[in-house]
Parts: sequence; structure tokens; C-alpha cells
Amino acid sequence: MDVDVSKASLVRKRVMDWFGLNGRTFPWRTTKDPFQILVAEMLLRRTTASAVSRVFGKFITRFNTPLRLARAHESTIVQALSSLGLQTERAKQFKKAFMLISKEYNGEIPQSYAILKSLPGVGRYIASAVMNFAYGEAVPLVDGNVIHLLSRVFGTSFVGSSDTQAWDFVSKFGGSHESELYWGIIDLVSMVCLRRNPRCTVCPLSEVCDWYNTK
Ligand code: SF4
Repeated sequence: MDVDVSKASLVRKRVMDWFGLNGRTFPWRTTKDPFQILVAEMLLRRTTASAVSRVFGKFITRFNTPLRLARAHESTIVQALSSLGLQTERAKQFKKAFMLISKEYNGEIPQSYAILKSLPGVGRYIASAVMNFAYGEAVPLVDGNVIHLLSRVFGTSFVGSSDTQAWDFVSKFGGSHESELYWGIIDLVSMVCLRRNPRCTVCPLSEVCDWYNTK
């Protein structure tokens, strides 16, 4: 699928400029520690950043290394995450993933997209997020937020975040794939481009947004 390069460039700039002024600060956005970023991204799956921010600090202090998470009783992890939901599923995935990391990778978070993606509970998005946010690799990220915003702005239609056409589109759209671009998209969707009642009159993309200009 082709991407309008000049529009993509303008959208990227506006999202990042907006993020610089309005973006939210979360602990996993102010660190390059791959362990903390991997834990955060696993928690952020199907959960809002605001909800994760309420438990993240305490969780990462208590389980501060891959080995600690690997050795923790599953019931202890379940209890620590009970306010977030999906705690049983999350606890099982944390145990399995961090046992593997402790045994096979000497407790280091692999700097390899393929290895990360193969870990329990870590799919394409989380592996890409760790490579981008922690290891500074210019890789595209596609999740529900990215699809939602780009579908409105570019008038595209994708099946979901596993749609290979969506990954292809975002790889062409994203330029250097700065972390701030993706954080900006997440925050714009959370604060401005709401699913039901988007706040188009205060949106930095209103001039170039297909949805706004054709409705
Ligand atoms: S103009 Fe409206 S629909 Fe378009 S991106 Fe902004 S908030 Fe979303």
C-alpha cells in the first residue's frame, strides 16, 4: 500500500511536536532499561497506561531483576497484579518468559527481535517496542492505537494489528520511527482522537485528517 510521503512527514512532525508539549510521562518512557521496558509492555497489553502506572513502580521495585521474577511464586505475582486484571494469565507469562531469560540468556534481555518475539507473552508488537524503546532500533510499531489514528488520518482500513498490510503501511509512514512518534500516537488517541467523540477542534492533525475533512 502506497503512503503519501509528504503527508506522512507532516503528520509525524505534528504528532511529535504535540507530544513534546502535551505528552504524558511514565516511568517506562524515561528509561532505556530493557528489563523495565519489557515488563511495562507486557503489562500494557490490553490495559491503559494510566492503569499500569498505578502498579508499575511498586511492581518493578519488588521484582527488580529477571531472576526475581523467574523465582517469584506465581501466586505472589498474581497478588501484585490483582488490581490490573488478567493477573493469572500475566503471572504465568511472566514466570515462563523470565525463567527462559534467566536460564538461556544469562538474565539479560535479548537484543534480538526474533528471540524476543519467541518468548511467552511477547508477540510482534512487544518485541518491536523493546527493540525500539530500549535498544534504539528504528522499527515500526503497530497496535490498536496506531491503526485507529492512521486509519482516520489517512482513510485506510486494516483488519487489525496483525494485518501485514498495516505493518507495511506503518514501516513506510514512520520515517525514523522515533519513540516519541509512537508515544505521541498513544497519547493523542487517549486524549484527543477518542473513539466515540474525537476532539477534532483541538487536534494538531485536523487540517490533514481525512476523517475530519470528509465527514
Ligand atoms: S482530526 Fe479528529 S479524527 Fe482526525 S486525528 Fe484529529 S481527533 Fe482524530
